Amino acid sequence: MSNTIIGVVGTTPLPPTLDEMLEAFDEVEQVMRVTKKYKLASWEFHPKKTRIKVLDFEIGGDEVVVIAGPCSVESEAQTLETARAVKAAGAKALRGGAYKPRTSPYEFRGLGQKGLEILATAREETGLAIITEVMTPADVEQVYKYTDIFQIGARNCQNYYLLEEVGKTGKPVMLKRGMSMLIEEWLLAAEYVLAQGNPNVIFCERGIRTFETQTRNTFDIAAVPVAQKLSHLPIFVDPSHAAGKRPFVASLAMAGVAAGADGLIIEVHPNPDHALSDGQQSLNFEEFADLMPRLAKIAEAVDRTVVAGELAPV
Ligand code: PEP
Ligand code: MN
Repeated sequence: MSNTIIGVVGTTPLPPTLDEMLEAFDEVEQVMRVTKKYKLASWEFHPKKTRIKVLDFEIGGDEVVVIAGPCSVESEAQTLETARAVKAAGAKALRGGAYKPRTSPYEFRGLGQKGLEILATAREETGLAIITEVMTPADVEQVYKYTDIFQIGARNCQNYYLLEEVGKTGKPVMLKRGMSMLIEEWLLAAEYVLAQGNPNVIFCERGIRTFETQTRNTFDIAAVPVAQKLSHLPIFVDPSHAAGKRPFVASLAMAGVAAGADGLIIEVHPNPDHALSDGQQSLNFEEFADLMPRLAKIAEAVDRTVVAGELAPV
């Protein structure tokens, strides 16, 4: 006699009742709960690494995907100029916040709908995919129309209603690690998206808060192999928010590739000193174009690829 094991996934408001219902079937010998807290994110449930197709590229494959762009969408000119430059250098997607979570309410908080329209223009012109942040469940429908990947910011990584809302859309979701979040809590946050039937979750290590003040955050490089050991989901690194200072961004980006990250998300601005947010950690076009071939060399050493382009036309 052979045994058939059936895995049942989803959320159950009243777990004992479901167990009893299943056990009531004659054919069911035993009902066992999966002991891993993060069930859908774990290798147990999905023995193959997740690959996520976005426009003409794939996240989680051999290529280390580079996403670049400004912290915030400030104007059409700034965004288009950046989009052209990062595309020429080899980026696959454009980042740019239209809704910005700012520590102070008096700082620039993004252009909102206008910013999303600017991103759409950049997408149309360059063919780059778009990633932009969504901060509240109420904005998910609006942002959905413009973005290829939802960005969930560090501050919202445990905003469970927001996670469920983006989960319902089925669109790829980049989950930036919360500032003081354990890796297990991060995996469980992903579970909120996955449990809604959306398998397209990408982790992003962006540094965590420690006692150190020389960098904006402490880049937890170990999070890359650890997350990959625990989960089949791809993981990116964000060297910009980890470093917080331009001179350190390239080193952390290279470290990310060396550690086996599936991609990078890097802040790039035409004129970092005049950026409306995060200028101190943004690369200019030349710095970004210089970095790409260096990343390509490191990628080769870890059996991955980075397809570097060329210096942007000025
Ligand atoms: C950002 O990407 O600009 C951002 C606000 O990042 P984080 O949520 O990681 O702080
Ligand atoms: Mn930023």
